[in-house]
Amino acid sequence: MAKEVNLTEELKKNFGFDTFKGNQEAIIKNLLAGKDTFVLMPTGGGKSLCYQLPSLILDGTAVVISPLIALMKNQVDAMRNFSAEDGVAHFINSSLNKAAIDQVKSDILSGKTKLLYVAPESLTKEENIDFLRQVNISFYAVDEAHCISEWGHDFRPEYRRIRPIINEIGVRPVIALTATATPKVQHDIQKNLGMLDATVFKSSFNRPNLYYEVRPKTANIDKDIIKYIKSQEGKSGIIYCLSRKKVEELAELLQVNGIRALPYHAGMDSATRTQNQDAFLLEKIDVIVATIAFGMGIDKPDVRYVIHYDIPKSLEGYYQETGRAGRDGGEGQCITFYINKDLQKLEKFMQGKPIAEQEIGKQLLLETAAYAESSLCRRKILLHYFGEEYEEDNCGNCDNCLNPKKQVEAKDQLCAVLETIIALKEKFKAEYVIDVLMGKETSQVLSYQHEDLEVFGSGQGEDERTWNAVIRQALIAGYIDKDIENYGLLKVTKAGHAFLKNPVSFKIVKDVDFEEMEEEVPM
Ligand code: ADP
Ligand code: ZN
Repeated sequence: MAKEVNLTEELKKNFGFDTFKGNQEAIIKNLLAGKDTFVLMPTGGGKSLCYQLPSLILDGTAVVISPLIALMKNQVDAMRNFSAEDGVAHFINSSLNKAAIDQVKSDILSGKTKLLYVAPESLTKEENIDFLRQVNISFYAVDEAHCISEWGHDFRPEYRRIRPIINEIGVRPVIALTATATPKVQHDIQKNLGMLDATVFKSSFNRPNLYYEVRPKTANIDKDIIKYIKSQEGKSGIIYCLSRKKVEELAELLQVNGIRALPYHAGMDSATRTQNQDAFLLEKIDVIVATIAFGMGIDKPDVRYVIHYDIPKSLEGYYQETGRAGRDGGEGQCITFYINKDLQKLEKFMQGKPIAEQEIGKQLLLETAAYAESSLCRRKILLHYFGEEYEEDNCGNCDNCLNPKKQVEAKDQLCAVLETIIALKEKFKAEYVIDVLMGKETSQVLSYQHEDLEVFGSGQGEDERTWNAVIRQALIAGYIDKDIENYGLLKVTKAGHAFLKNPVSFKIVKDVDFEEMEEEVPM
């Protein structure tokens, strides 16, 4: 770092805060030291400050790549509020006219501008690249960095061009930030941004005040929900449904039952949408029934429950949506209604999309199903999904921990799984491993001649559900892992090899059988 600065003083002077939140200070120091920095922090953790403050301290202009024009404008307005200096923050995107762009450029070249927000599609324009070559750039910040990965929830192909363009404009330190923290997405980001050796700062994604529960989705779901809402009198809640039609039907049904509820989805006209949203924020109603279009940027601190009428498409989405409960640190109940059949419907919706996208969608869906069907601690599974180990045996705040299921010994079953994965040279996904264990002569098995393997059929004593449970729980226990490049292929970890050499006890809980609960429920 060229200059000696007192960061706490700078924080107070520029933003009016007395102390840093979480890892902010360490992150900022790392960036100021000129190192590539990777920040994984849940929404609301205070990511923006991690690049805003350094940009004010360092010479030159920081280039912030951000995907949304609306987001960009908010950020620039916020920075301008903090600063007396005109032109301290600017953005370049397709909404600006020529005169505005000239003003921005002149402010940058005169050294006034500390932060320049650019949309990725503007960054790729030749004229902007030419201009930025002349600029003294302090560092690059890549916001919403998960947009770089097809496994994130908002893939944007232009994000893949960021690294080559940085190389063209001039290499400076990079800080990448995201609230999407699955190990796969994390790896994709670091690889694509050419920052595999960046310092990684990962905050915990645990939300101890949230209670997680999965209930079987039966024909009585509407009654169940009405009863639940009535037991929560006067409290605010969100109900997420997959389809717009369901949103409208359910909102109406709740109204008929004397519940103050309104619908919200992207198909409604924007005036009504805003009206309903405001009614919820101002507590004129208790319940908003919505598609996932609702919630982005909405900060109601005292949402006491989030209900998922339908299973979300990914655990990532589930985490974001349930995360809207209990923002104030108070109680937040997250209740999901699940039936196995819904998965098939969701898979059907994906048909027609490119094959690669379907494959990803299916994997994400399977992981959500694994979560829903498990009898393990929900928190443990969710955090494991984000690459975080939750050490406690009982979180005390999920359905499975409050009603623990009986454990059964599965030492031999785990050995069989590990041996099969090894026999398959770690090149197959869970579904296929189970086919081989169970001795199914599928066309794929036959084409690989895997029916000749010694392990073929070695697991016929157990049913498919048990094998699924063994594999899912072995993943969480760290005996097996999913390949990070070819996501989904099962590999045996060091701990798994050690287990095979010297098997110890491995207790599992059986998954809940959601298939036996079949009753036709419209989605
Ligand atoms: P994220 O981008 O991680 O979702 P933001 O950058 O929007 O989070 O910050 C969330 C909120 O926390 C904002 O209102 C911001 O002003 C506030 N904040 C950030 N850093 C601090 C701090 N050190 N002290 C107090 N509030 C902070
Ligand atoms: Zn638990």
